[in-house]
Amino acid sequence: MNGTVVITGAVSGIGLSTSKLFLAKGWNVMMADFNEDLGKKVLEELLAEYSPERLAFQQCDVSSARSVDAMAQATHDSFGHVDSVINNAGIFAKGAVHEIDEDVWDRVMATDVKSIYLTTKAFVPEMIERKSGTIVNTASISGLQGDYNMAVYNAAKGAVVNLVRAMALDYGKYGIRVNNVNPGPTMTPMFRSNPQSVIDEFAQASPLGRLVQPEDIARTMYFLASDESDPITGQNIPVSAGFEIYSGQPV
Ligand code: NAD
Repeated sequence: MNGTVVITGAVSGIGLSTSKLFLAKGWNVMMADFNEDLGKKVLEELLAEYSPERLAFQQCDVSSARSVDAMAQATHDSFGHVDSVINNAGIFAKGAVHEIDEDVWDRVMATDVKSIYLTTKAFVPEMIERKSGTIVNTASISGLQGDYNMAVYNAAKGAVVNLVRAMALDYGKYGIRVNNVNPGPTMTPMFRSNPQSVIDEFAQASPLGRLVQPEDIARTMYFLASDESDPITGQNIPVSAGFEIYSGQPV
């Protein structure tokens, strides 16, 4: 199968690698992202390689219903129906619960969790009608376990870890599959900005002794979005170099 995919958070890090892989595999790609300047730059670069019939960028705030609905309309105008939605946009904030400002709490929950509700409302009715489609969410290993000083991110990604099960149950009868990719620490621009000593420490903490690259996540996104992963649904798939499997017991 190849068709049309909507990717949120598409112009940086994991979303950009995922967009490039779907394009290389022959899919039409709607790249949706909040960052308009970077979006225009990335679009221009990709249009040197791919035709405008197969690729579009739409400025979109995934935490706003109005913005997501406008993006859905632009997607239908450009490509007709949608076969797959990759809910990848996400943000992170530090702090224990009592240290987090209310607006930061709300913004992380809206960007990382409510966004999935909004894109699902926008795109699932047409999938139900056609009785096919796939949805892939970027969760995190931080939704599968706890971290120090990352309370709202743990809460948000933990919600995504269980939301995928509810969506897979509710939409399975329509032939729609819903899965999560749960990245470990991944070498995106944000993570690269850490001091080298911190990056090395993270790498050494995984059994494979390395960090994950955005391309590693993209391959799993593609697998879960395409027919290659049929009949997998409702699953959380860590792509982490094994980072999260250690119990933490002293050696
Ligand atoms: P990134 O910052 O490189 O990319 C995130 C993209 O999302 C950016 O282009 C940003 O503009 C966009 N975005 C942010 N808020 C938005 C909004 N409201 N509406 C639309 N777009 C918005 O980060 P990344 O590391 O590629 O992260 C992608 C996903 O992977 C996130 O959900 C993140 O939580 C998750 N993740 C990342 C790591 C990691 O180590 N990098 C680990 C686990 C999970």
